[in-house]
Formats: sequence, structure tokens, C-alpha cells
Amino acid sequence: MTSYRHKVMQQVIDMNPAEPEFHQAVREVLDSLKPVIEKHEKEYRSSQLLERLVEPERSVSFRVPWTDDRGRVHIQRGFRVQFNSALGPYKGGLRFHPTVNRSCMNFLAFEQTFKNALTGLSMGGGKGGSNFDPHGKSDREVMAFCQSFMTELYKYIGPNEDVPAGDIGVGGREIGYLYGQYKRLTNQFEGTLTGKGLGWGGSLVRTEATGYGVCYLAQEMLKTHGMGLSGMKVVISGSGNVAIYAAQKAIQLGATVVAMSDSNGYIYDPSGIDVDMIKQIKEVERARLAVYPKRVPGSTYMDGRKSFEVPCDIAFPCAIQNELEINDAIDLVQNGCKAVVEGANMPTTREATDYLLKEGILFLPGKASNAGGVAVSGLEMSQNSMRIKHSFEHVDNQLQGIMSGIWTQISDAVDEYDLGSNYVDGANIAAFRRVVKAMREQGYV
Ligand code: NDP
Repeated sequence: MTSYRHKVMQQVIDMNPAEPEFHQAVREVLDSLKPVIEKHEKEYRSSQLLERLVEPERSVSFRVPWTDDRGRVHIQRGFRVQFNSALGPYKGGLRFHPTVNRSCMNFLAFEQTFKNALTGLSMGGGKGGSNFDPHGKSDREVMAFCQSFMTELYKYIGPNEDVPAGDIGVGGREIGYLYGQYKRLTNQFEGTLTGKGLGWGGSLVRTEATGYGVCYLAQEMLKTHGMGLSGMKVVISGSGNVAIYAAQKAIQLGATVVAMSDSNGYIYDPSGIDVDMIKQIKEVERARLAVYPKRVPGSTYMDGRKSFEVPCDIAFPCAIQNELEINDAIDLVQNGCKAVVEGANMPTTREATDYLLKEGILFLPGKASNAGGVAVSGLEMSQNSMRIKHSFEHVDNQLQGIMSGIWTQISDAVDEYDLGSNYVDGANIAAFRRVVKAMREQGYV
């Protein structure tokens, strides 16, 4: 008889053909859940539990017309996938990137459900975005796109319904334009988006939260294995929101960050990357990393190459899905890397993950290690509901507590199921337990 897991996996493939990222994300979770599913198979089968878990509750796609500075009309596709609301209102970012398609949205929304569960807060899983590329666009063009996008999206979101945030290509500027249009359409000033400006409902630490959280969880794992970030050589991929604040916190904790990248290449700075300079280049000037060596003597730029080839103790992949491939994993192992902590969502291919685990590299999956961003978004939602604003220290302490709670849940699952140091399975099992308990208690919906 085909196992229940395999039957559900086949159904996902049949119902969502040509969605390789979604298949990859579901397969990883179902494989991790093998011991739990086998223990409860009869009950899960009779309630179609896994079938419900892999099917989004709602998924919309819509046309987004906008006009560029030369008056030319462009048409983009917008998405919002509301995957699972067992634990609370849908919550998850918006991504503006040319690779956005249905597969990418389904994979991210599915992953988000488990990530949000790990935070312990009341948030379901969702994700959205568009194949719009903000690179090289003027502020007016970005505003025009955001306003058109929100003119459709606002019908599906709300503070108790679905609360989007930023992701790749959606930072403070885009959230501002999106919120402005939401407010204009609804006449409501409410906490429907997170990552808002600090002067109008945003939470302190939200900007830093994902990157800081990556380091906090890395520290918990390293501590368990008798190590710490202090004195470690760190390589990061990406130079966006997650990468910048992971670098900043790693340096504060005593590490040296020797490499960072963007989609064109990477910079290597053996004496330690100047994060303020990266911020200036990427956040203020919106320029390419290639200019860094012109401003920081002693550093080099490697065009068209990945930062994982630089020897390091710890790698933080913080750019995009499937960027860390098997050859990169082999480089990391050969160069003596001890740990890989994912800052991005599913940045490591399945083949590379399996290889790293087999080689005994400590590995934290993004759904656990990058959960700090959505956790502070959850705290932004509660501050908005109460119309209060917490201090930086207060929110940072809460973030540290949440990351430490995630580590406890993973450790408990790993111990209970005798998984050694397989924190991928530990995170999936811990998250699944919370989601499934709520789904069972809420009936067949
Ligand atoms: P940003 O848009 O701020 O930065 C993305 C970074 O990745 C940029 O440096 C970009 O380079 C680089 N990049 C994009 N595509 C590629 C590619 N094909 N190869 C190499 N580098 C690439 O996004 P975020 O930092 O917000 O997000 C990064 C990752 O973290 C994503 O997977 C996201 O889903 C995840 N994440 C983000 C959270 C958040 O709070 N922001 C929360 C949880 C997860 P370039 O400048 O050249 O485009």
C-alpha cells in the first residue's frame, strides 16, 4: 500500500503541476513528519488532515496595471495566498521580484504557516507579491505600482483577517506607499500592514528583527554544542534587510563577517565588512555591491561568484531560495565550516541540506532561524491593537525570548523523536504539532 505521506505528496504534484518550489517545501515537511504521521496515521487519514494541511484556504491572483515615467503601460501579476488560519489571522510578507509565480507563493505561504507556529504567537500563514521588479525604478514608478497593487489587495486583508509585511523587494518605502493607499481606500488607520514607519505605527526592532533573530537562534544552537559566535568567521549571502542585520548582530556578538553578496557577485573583506558602508550602498544609494572595494581599501569584489566559496566557520544564506547548491555545500565542508544557519526562506537545496547533515554540519532551517521577523511583526500587531509603543530594549528582549522558545521547542522534538542534531526535522515536527492541534480542535474546515 502506498504510504499516506506519498499519497498526499503525489496529490500535491498532480494538483499543482509545474510548481517545483512548492513540491520541494511540502516534500521536506512530509519527510520530516514521517515518525509523527506513522504514529497517528489512522486518525490523520480519516480526517484528511494532511490533505487539508497542503491545500491553501484561499488563493487569489490579480492583474496590476501601472504606468512608467515615459507613459508606457505595464501589466504585472499580483498574488495573495492565505494558506492556513488555524492559529490566527494570515500573516506573511509581500515579495516583489521577477521570479514571483504561483509556485513561489505557495511554497512561501506553506512555510510561513510552520514558521509562525514556532513563534508561539497567534498568527496563521500567508504570502503574497508580484513579479514586479523594483530595481532601477524611480520612486514615482514604485509608488504607482504599489498603489495599483493595493487597489486590488485591500479587498482581502485587514487587521483581524490578513496582515502582510515586507519581503524581497518590499522594504520601508514600499510598505509606506502600500499603507497610504490602503488607508485611502478603506478610510481606516489600523494595523493591517507591519514594517510600518516608526512615526505611524511601526515597531522598534522590526527592521532588525529577522537578522538579529538569525544570530540569536544560531547562538542557542552553538551554545548547546559548546561554541558561540564570538571569534567565528562568518560568510553571508545577500546584502538586503536580513543579511545586513544578521551581519550587524554577528559583529556585535564578536564574529568577523568576511563576505557578503548581491545578485551580481560578492565582496570579500578579510579584516571584517563595514556594515555601515553596506547600508549606505544598498539602503541609501540603492547601488551595487561592486562599488564597495572602491571605498574600502583591502577588500575585493568577485563578479558572478557566490560568497560560499570563501572559507568560514559559519554561513548565513540570506538571499533567495535554492541559492546554496550542492557544490557550495561541498566548498563549505571542505573549507571547515561548522554551521549553516538559514536567514532566507529555503535557500539551501534539498540535495545540499542532506549533504550538510550527513557531514555533521550544524544546520538551522529558515522557518526557525528567520522567524524573528514575523515574531516582531506579531508584536507590532499587538502594539497597534493596544495603541502603545514599546521601547527598543523591550521588543529586543521579547525577540530574544521568542527565539529561545523556538530553540526549546526544536530541542524537545529532537529529544522526543531521537533525531540527534537534525534540527530540520525537529523544527518541522515542533511546528506541525502546534498547527495540527488547532486544526483538530476546529473541526473539518
Ligand atoms: P531584500 O530585498 O532586502 O534583499 C534580498 C537580497 O538578496 C539582495 O541583496 C539581493 O541582491 C539578493 N538576491 C536576490 N536574488 C538573488 C539571487 N538570485 N542570487 C543572489 N542574491 C540574490 O530581501 P530580504 O533581505 O527581506 O529577504 C531575503 C530573504 O529572507 C528572502 O528569502 C526572504 O523571504 C527571507 N525573509 C525575509 C524576512 C524579512 O523580514 N525581510 C523575514 C523572513 C524571511 P540584489 O540587491 O542584487 O537584488
